[in-house]
Amino acid sequence: MQAIDIPASLISDLVGVRQDIHAHPEMAFKETRTSDIVAARLAEWGIRFERGIAKTGIVASISAGSSKRAIALRCDMDALPIVERSGKPHASQHAGVMHACGHDGHTTMLLGAARYLSQNPNFDGTVHLVFQPAEENEGGGRVMVDEGLFERFPVEAVYGMHNWPGVDVGTFGVHTGAAMAAVDLFEIELSGTGAHAAMPHLGDDPIVAAGELITALQTVVSRAVDPGGSVVLSVTQVHAGNNLNVVQPRAVLQGTCRYFNPAMSQVVEERMRRLIDGLCAAHALKAAFTYDRKCPAVVNSPEPARIAALAAADVVGQANVKTDLPPSMGCEDFAHMLSAKQGCYVWIGNGPGDGGCLLHSNRYDFNDDIIGIGVSYWAALVRRCLPAAA
Ligand SMILES: [Zn+2]
Ligand SMILES: [Zn+2]
Repeated sequence: MQAIDIPASLISDLVGVRQDIHAHPEMAFKETRTSDIVAARLAEWGIRFERGIAKTGIVASISAGSSKRAIALRCDMDALPIVERSGKPHASQHAGVMHACGHDGHTTMLLGAARYLSQNPNFDGTVHLVFQPAEENEGGGRVMVDEGLFERFPVEAVYGMHNWPGVDVGTFGVHTGAAMAAVDLFEIELSGTGAHAAMPHLGDDPIVAAGELITALQTVVSRAVDPGGSVVLSVTQVHAGNNLNVVQPRAVLQGTCRYFNPAMSQVVEERMRRLIDGLCAAHALKAAFTYDRKCPAVVNSPEPARIAALAAADVVGQANVKTDLPPSMGCEDFAHMLSAKQGCYVWIGNGPGDGGCLLHSNRYDFNDDIIGIGVSYWAALVRRCLPAAA
């Protein structure tokens, strides 16, 4: 494999782009300035692209050789509703909005890959570079797929990358199966008859039942799920009452379930429903139970994961490609793209996570030292996936 040498001038240009995007973070589907920066650079470099996919999304395309084969590389562009406390010179200038997940760096690295690949078209086929909006909570990946991403830009596989604090610079994590968990959200509303707090026998107290239910829900994972499967069920909100001397007529519990195996979702929902129904029967309450499957798990396909690991090894050496890192219970909406196409999502080491440099921390900052590594990975991946004829 021919060495990938990213020019120092491109790296320093990209560091400026990254810090500029960091200073001007934008929330889901409002990434207009960021999208304008991407579009302006692509136009300046003579790379064809289309805008307006999922509002602020962009897909750039670079072809080389004669092959009809194609792959997609995806990054995310949005920021979070966090007040930045990094103290960096390029800290957010947008009040209450912050690039605390490194999507500024992801956008920059994919932009750098576009530049490098357009100048070094040493591959055979087409690369579609997907600049996705709204990864955090708003499902921009799903919107892109729903708006026909893969019909308009047919590919055989799609690849993603996320910086990972706590993993050394110069190291990649490539999971051979599950990388990030699926997320379900639930809400349970218990309702009955309110009463005077001194005469509870005249009402049906949903707060007492809610307390029992919170405890009972702890048995869902411990007694209904195979101990070999990784499932987390957490009640994260309890809302009931605003008065000291009233038995309230209503209590609401909310929470989340995380898992890797989709079959677990059904098991959890059914067990929860039985517990809720039984408790309501015992307490003469009514229940409204909603269970939403918000995001599937990120599960890498074997062949794309194998190729991604080879590409990462091209850049950092085999010894620095970790294929045995445990998956994260966090979620990632790249899963929506993997539901439509096979592919692989890798972690690129961002360096130490201490000092507050963890994802979604108000002191986090993307590590500019990994920009060249990330651009090189994308370039190596393209050459591995779409090798030029010898
Ligand atoms: Zn995030
Ligand atoms: Zn992220």
